[in-house]
Amino acid sequence: MTSVAIIGGGAAGMMAATTIIERNPSAKVFLIERNRILGQKVRMTGGGRCNVTTGRTDMDDILRRYPRGKNFLKHAVYSFPPWKVMEWFEAHGVPLKTEEDLRVFPVSDKSDDIVAVFEKLFEKSNVQVMLGATVTSVKKGADGFEIEVPSPLGLAPSSQLQARSLLIAVGGQAGGSTGGYALASSLGHTITPLAPSLNSFVVQEPWVKDLAGVSFKSVHFKFVGTQNIASPENRYEFTGPFVFTHKGITGPAVFALSSLAAYEKLSVETPARLLIDLLPETSEAVLTQQLQEGIAAHPKKTFENLLSQFVPKSVATVICQSIGIPAERIAVEVSKKDLHKTIAWIKGLPLTIIGRTAGEEFVTAGGVSLKEVDSKTMESKICPGLFLAGEVLDVDAFTGGFNLQAAWATGRLAGENLLLG
Ligand SMILES: Cc1cc2nc3c(=O)[nH]c(=O)nc-3n(C[C@H](O)[C@H](O)[C@H](O)COP(=O)(O)OP(=O)(O)OC[C@H]3O[C@@H](n4cnc5c(N)ncnc54)[C@H](O)[C@@H]3O)c2cc1C
Repeated sequence: MTSVAIIGGGAAGMMAATTIIERNPSAKVFLIERNRILGQKVRMTGGGRCNVTTGRTDMDDILRRYPRGKNFLKHAVYSFPPWKVMEWFEAHGVPLKTEEDLRVFPVSDKSDDIVAVFEKLFEKSNVQVMLGATVTSVKKGADGFEIEVPSPLGLAPSSQLQARSLLIAVGGQAGGSTGGYALASSLGHTITPLAPSLNSFVVQEPWVKDLAGVSFKSVHFKFVGTQNIASPENRYEFTGPFVFTHKGITGPAVFALSSLAAYEKLSVETPARLLIDLLPETSEAVLTQQLQEGIAAHPKKTFENLLSQFVPKSVATVICQSIGIPAERIAVEVSKKDLHKTIAWIKGLPLTIIGRTAGEEFVTAGGVSLKEVDSKTMESKICPGLFLAGEVLDVDAFTGGFNLQAAWATGRLAGENLLLG
């Protein structure tokens, strides 16, 4: 009988298989992957550079970046934290670098180098990698699991595998994947509602296209819910960098916000209101004083030019146009009312979000209910011998290497605990 079968040759599945053979080189492991190469999504990560993990070391700070799964992941991430992930890859011949924003990449900037570590390890081991093999069904029998793999490459003529224990590590629905949640639900697991996360936002205001490419290092976002259902439950806040696009806004803070608001319905019919404080470090009172001092010092300067000392010129133009201050209006002639409107705009730039588009990193919120999985082992509480790891679980994070970190850590923990036949 086959000892262990792993469905999914992605981040979690590859790490689990490696962990099994590191501990027990004679173990027989089947790694079943639908694609014709291992780690297809890992290769796509970080724009092909693979943001392997994070350079952060404060565990609370790390776990805070998982809107779903924070408590569940504690054991896995403490056992295989980012710095151990880094040590592991470096020990396997991939030097890593930590960039200024604490994202960790291979020095080569090649995600293929990350997958190659596993490919080399599997070549010399008892891991039988089955590529181009899609598992269509799994059943639990008296002796373990029966795994249906129609016409798997390298395993002719049989299309049914027997395994004492099974790991489902089929990932999520993002990045062209169709998801493999049905395999987990067929063994009794509940799948929580699924939603895309880590998106850019599309906004209604036509003027955003005039600001495309304008970026801010640190603004404060207040997502104040869909206009007709503004309740405390759908209010989210986040501070960080963002950039205007032709259709809306994107960047790390926008991805984080989209992750927090993953389950909000955003459409033209159900738009959400977003307020952006462009100068979060400057209070309204201080900004008023600074603007008044500017007007007193340069009364003949156009107001738009004066304003561009506080915000980028193109933003100053949009503010003046939106409030109705003509471009040629000199500072001293701007009414008190318009001055107040300008300050309100800078401290709470209003945007109407009407949709999402895929960001540079894209994951699925929702998945196998965490109540049904033992967080210390990754074993199912419903189906003994079944393990689950990676994005198929109801776990997802902000951008910055945290999603792969969760996959490495849960994959490792599952690998340590999978029963060997
Ligand atoms: C474009 C993009 C960029 C990203 N960039 C980053 C990044 O830089 N840093 C980061 O931390 N995260 C990033 N992510 C997220 C990260 O890639 C995933 O969270 C991570 O790969 C999840 O690992 P996993 O092992 O759970 O799933 P995956 O890596 O997706 O692996 C699951 C595997 O299971 C296989 N499979 C599914 N169903 C079956 C079946 N029935 N039979 C056989 N095989 C099956 C799939 O083909 C797949 O190879 C990115 C995602 C995308 C889409």
